[in-house]
Amino acid sequence: MYNEKYDPFDQMTFTYDKCFLCGNELTSNNYSVEHIFPKWLQNKFDLWNQDLILLNGTQIKYRNLTIPCCKNCNTTMSKCIEKPVERAVEAGYEEFIRLDKKIVFQWLNKISYGMLFKELSLKQDIRNPHSPTIYNEEQLKQHHMQYMFLKSIIDGAEYIEKPYSLLIFRLRLEEEESRYWAADNPFLKTFFIRMNDIGIIAHLMDNGYQEGFFMEFPDMVELLNKELHPIQFAELCAKLLYKSSLFNRNPFFTIVFDKDKKMKNIIAHPLSGDAFDEWSQEDYARCLEVYWQKWGLKFDDIYKGNDLVITYLRNEDGTFKDFYN
Ligand SMILES: [Zn+2]
Repeated sequence: MYNEKYDPFDQMTFTYDKCFLCGNELTSNNYSVEHIFPKWLQNKFDLWNQDLILLNGTQIKYRNLTIPCCKNCNTTMSKCIEKPVERAVEAGYEEFIRLDKKIVFQWLNKISYGMLFKELSLKQDIRNPHSPTIYNEEQLKQHHMQYMFLKSIIDGAEYIEKPYSLLIFRLRLEEEESRYWAADNPFLKTFFIRMNDIGIIAHLMDNGYQEGFFMEFPDMVELLNKELHPIQFAELCAKLLYKSSLFNRNPFFTIVFDKDKKMKNIIAHPLSGDAFDEWSQEDYARCLEVYWQKWGLKFDDIYKGNDLVITYLRNEDGTFKDFYN
């Protein structure tokens, strides 16, 4: 049954008695759970018993990060996004870059939205009207679009212009280091993930603006064809995260429905002009410090004063810093 009227944001119903996607009541016949971090990913990178901290400070194991989903939606999601991504990750970078980027976007968007659903439903469980809200109304309105993106999968809607930025890098696989790492920032809508030799940097809702910006710089585009050291990938993540914090536009979308009230098209309106506040090298260095924690680099090692920030991407003569040749 297609429930065209369901929209969890109408009544803020992030509850466990309905499918998170189509809103149909869950019964013993159609009930299933959707793992926010899919089972194949948890198996592949041994995540089941690892802990994750939610925004309200709750500690939760990856295996317990599930959201309510009907069997139909579960099957559709599996076919449309999980299986293709799983196969491509299994095959590695060369195959992965051939995958339709829209599928990769939807996959990241599902994890990000799943986390939001979890945060909001946990909040309802607490039932404490005095506890501070994690998201304000304006932020929630923006997340509403994430839900519509996901729903477009079951509606079979097409995008006109893409709503996201997505860059895929080749990373060197080294035995001693972690082959999985992910960072999702629900407020800035960035998502960074590493899976083996695949490194993805995404903004889930900027209508392609930051990807377009990245592609304007030949020394950045060059990096798409290089094999990166993890410290270089981390540097790029810090750049995009900081840049996203300066993003001062609210992307605009139009949704076209068909006569059955299913989504037919999502039109992402391109942004033009200067969409960023002014970049501060010092603030950027603070961001880098977080991403370079693993390598023990401190702010004073990174920021040298007078707007000078160290980089592992380039040599002093401006050429690419190649760790492997
Ligand atoms: Zn459903």
